[in-house]
Amino acid sequence: MKVSIDQHSGFCWGVVRTIDMAEEELKGSRELYSLGAIIHNPKEIERLKEEGLETVTHADLENLRGKRVLIRAHGEPPSTYAIAARHGVTLLDATCPVVTKVQERIRKFFDKGYQVVIFGKKDHAEVIGLVGHTNGEAIVIRSVDEIGKVDPGRKTVLFSQTTMDKATFYEIARLLKERIKDFEVGTFEESAIEFHAKDTICGQVSGRDKKLREFASAHEIMIFVAGRNSSNGKVLYDICREANPRTFFIEEESELQKVWFEGANSVGISGATSTPQWLMERVKDAIEGMYPSSTTHN
Ligand code: SF4
Repeated sequence: MKVSIDQHSGFCWGVVRTIDMAEEELKGSRELYSLGAIIHNPKEIERLKEEGLETVTHADLENLRGKRVLIRAHGEPPSTYAIAARHGVTLLDATCPVVTKVQERIRKFFDKGYQVVIFGKKDHAEVIGLVGHTNGEAIVIRSVDEIGKVDPGRKTVLFSQTTMDKATFYEIARLLKERIKDFEVGTFEESAIEFHAKDTICGQVSGRDKKLREFASAHEIMIFVAGRNSSNGKVLYDICREANPRTFFIEEESELQKVWFEGANSVGISGATSTPQWLMERVKDAIEGMYPSSTTHN
């Protein structure tokens, strides 16, 4: 059996940068706190914990005076910086520059009086951070079914959480544009109500669609490795399964089932932008271990 790891999978550069910053810091002190899980991958969290990285919550900040706390790639709302300053906590800001840019753009539109709509998941850390840049006023919609939350009578801008899927974003943009147009007709507004759609989906995620589809359809069985709470992992897994219905989702190698591979000659392994390369290697080794005489390729 041929087992291959998708060469386009693994950490995106934003995550690599965050982990590098944490490891650099830990080299000197072996003491660093991460505000929320540094990455949506329990295995990588475990590894970094051994190096001294502790995960803390927002409520813990008041007890961390004098300590260094890392802000992860998802970013934080402005209130977090204020709370840290109040409690004498030093922040190591590892917000992904792509996310910082979205925060700045949202802030700009909000300050100009726009109704800010974010296509995303309201409980996702990145979205909580983005909403914080509008003093909590942004409207978060997760699917086309929720566009009724948007006031069609206001000038509006639509943004996206960086890890959402592009097709839905453009469908929401199209429907909102239509609604806003209908509203204008109904109210005899003289000037058009402005509507802007800003596709802020990260290229590290959207660019992978095509390559992942190709990789998935080139293999009989696909194993997709990601943390169960990884948003990007879910999007990429769905793409993978669409291209290859014999795709299985696992968080770690112990979840592999021999029955999945019966009669198959080729297995592909891919993962989310938060899936470490070493974990996919371990999955590959485990599959090879089930078939000791198999030929393997990278
Ligand atoms: S997926 Fe994109 S926005 Fe998110 S951390 Fe990676 S590079 Fe940054």
